[in-house]
Amino acid sequence: MRQDIESILYDAECIHDRVLQVGTRITRDYQDKDLLLVGVLKGSFVFLADLARSIDLPVEVDFMVVSSYGSGTESSGVLTIAKDLSVPVEGRHVLIVEDIVDSGLTLSLLAEDLRSRGAASVQVAVLLEKDVPRSHQVECAYSAFHCPDAFLVGYGLDYAERYRNLPYIGILKPEVYEDRAQCPDARQSGR
Ligand code: 5GP
Repeated sequence: MRQDIESILYDAECIHDRVLQVGTRITRDYQDKDLLLVGVLKGSFVFLADLARSIDLPVEVDFMVVSSYGSGTESSGVLTIAKDLSVPVEGRHVLIVEDIVDSGLTLSLLAEDLRSRGAASVQVAVLLEKDVPRSHQVECAYSAFHCPDAFLVGYGLDYAERYRNLPYIGILKPEVYEDRAQCPDARQSGR
């Protein structure tokens, strides 16, 4: 797989150190609070596994599968929930764990949805925040890395369901997706 990667942005050791720092902050901020970690599948599964183990609190973990699309205007969109939480969030402190925030549409809609269910608080922990002008405002209370505007894979992030198991985060060579775009069954990133 390494031959498909243009460059490694964050190696395993660097990711480990940053995730530990984020986990330490979360531990400090959520003392005496009933914390529910909500992982957004599939991209967050590696980050969530490491982050949860770096939080020294009795957290609960649940998962959602969501997708979003714009509704024609810049400020709104529609959230589709393919897999919902298995527990109610009313009165609970929710921390959404996401792989990467790009436009911010998915996260802003998801946070709004969980707030409307009566969560005591809803915050976001994100592995990567792309340095791009954000069309949808989303407050990331915890952010491991600010990254350049490139297509990244590894540590949970995929291209066409591949590369999630890379232990590092790297920039995918453009020719990989340009080649696949010629194939009739080419698929996009699977969240
Ligand atoms: P947003 O709603 O913020 O525009 O989109 C966020 C989602 O887009 C992420 O959860 C992820 O599934 C996908 N995405 C955005 N940028 C990248 C990227 O560089 N690499 C991969 N693999 N997925 C991305």
